[in-house]
Amino acid sequence: MEIIPGIHELRGRMVNCYLTVDGDELMLIDTGLPGNSSNITEYIENNLNRSPQDIETIVITHNHFDHVGSLSKIKRITGAKVAVHPDDADYIRGKARHAGGAFMNSLIKLYQVIYRSGTVEPDILLKEGDIIGGYRVIHTPGHTEGSICLYNPDKRAIFVGDNLQLRDGKLHSPGKRLIPDPEKYVKSMEKLLEYDIKVILTGHTAPVTSDGVKLIREFLEDVKKELN
Ligand SMILES: [Zn+2]
Ligand SMILES: [Zn+2]
Repeated sequence: MEIIPGIHELRGRMVNCYLTVDGDELMLIDTGLPGNSSNITEYIENNLNRSPQDIETIVITHNHFDHVGSLSKIKRITGAKVAVHPDDADYIRGKARHAGGAFMNSLIKLYQVIYRSGTVEPDILLKEGDIIGGYRVIHTPGHTEGSICLYNPDKRAIFVGDNLQLRDGKLHSPGKRLIPDPEKYVKSMEKLLEYDIKVILTGHTAPVTSDGVKLIREFLEDVKKELN
């Protein structure tokens, strides 16, 4: 479904991924759980009348299994370049283990047993301030060390991965148990106030389509309570 011109949301099982369309250029943001690749390729073929090979870049908001589960398969199908923040790169390379508390670790281990999704060598390492596919990279550690947001000033739209969720008309964190470093997380979210944001594309919930800045401001007033 097209949320605003040039941004399509592909709702998968449990998790959203997104396609940006800028002229001929397609960019995929996150890939969903393992088994989600046909969901993505069919959307491109049926809704955009394009070929999956038109995806030039796959940007990963962070390394969790529900966002990178179909990464190796989609990369194989499309030949797209994979872009990730260096602090999360070793996880998709299969060279690092999660240090995210017992709850997150057990979840991740369980999924790794259920789905054996291959490892991927990233092609592009993204740093704060880099521009990719017209989007500016904002490094927002806290949920994971290498979590990033992607912001487009013309669309006033931001992809936030798991950093924010929309529930009952308000923004929330992904929850205390999924934030290993709350202090860093809050600092990261405060950084978002530097941007003129209208639309917020989230990893697991419906998007915010207006008043993004206002909702982030209200969220920041409550977040410390939420994480206490
Ligand atoms: Zn996550
Ligand atoms: Zn997630």
